[in-house]
Amino acid sequence: MAAQTYLFPCLTDNFGVLVHDPASGSTASIDAPEAAPIEAALQKTGWRLTDILVTHHHGDHTAGIGALKAHHRCRVVAPRGEAQRIADVDETVGEGDTVKVGALEGRVIDTPGHTMGHISYFFPADKLAFVGDTLFSIGCGRVIEGTPQMMWNSLVKLRALPDDTRFYCGHEYTKANIRFAKTVEPNNQALDARAEEVDKLVAAGKPTIPATIGAEKAANPFLRADNAELAKSLGLAGAPAWKVFAEIRERKNRF
Ligand SMILES: [Zn+2]
Repeated sequence: MAAQTYLFPCLTDNFGVLVHDPASGSTASIDAPEAAPIEAALQKTGWRLTDILVTHHHGDHTAGIGALKAHHRCRVVAPRGEAQRIADVDETVGEGDTVKVGALEGRVIDTPGHTMGHISYFFPADKLAFVGDTLFSIGCGRVIEGTPQMMWNSLVKLRALPDDTRFYCGHEYTKANIRFAKTVEPNNQALDARAEEVDKLVAAGKPTIPATIGAEKAANPFLRADNAELAKSLGLAGAPAWKVFAEIRERKNRF
């Protein structure tokens, strides 16, 4: 049976998302920004929380874990490299490990850069990816603990997922990301198309995710750092892709 998802806002601009296996009734929360909206989402869906799958240690992804675990006795799965910095962890995972949510099978992908131990979860049967603060729609996370080269390699791994993979990220930053992306690639038609779509979604009060990896590859400059035209336009013709990525990231930091 196909996985079901339920997306909702948390904190100021975080996303909460539940992943539900209808066959077993198991439900995972991807990260836990705060307990109350996750409890409300469980009430609304009638789903029972069995697991929390953590992408990284930042407080706006983990603050709700303690209360949720106390209430639901759910299992907490966290990145191996950051378990010391996350409360109430039951299981640690890393690259290539399998995480089950009932009958649903997720694969762990190491995606360091935003934090050193950041991981993403990919459910191949449903082509669903949960990428935390590594990839955003038309953007990417700040490189806080790692290096630009490390972050670029992580983005390349996510970019290699099937084009029809729907990905869920940690924040609703899409509109601001588009404003910046247009300064980097003003003539990218895929970006214009995404901007139009996002305007409609925002006007209707809807979230701008999930997006697909295929559409994202065409429009997100952070996934396009190995595009020769783009490198040239930034004055970096022939430079390694990670350097082009670092330049785009630096410009975004100053934007
Ligand atoms: Zn973060």
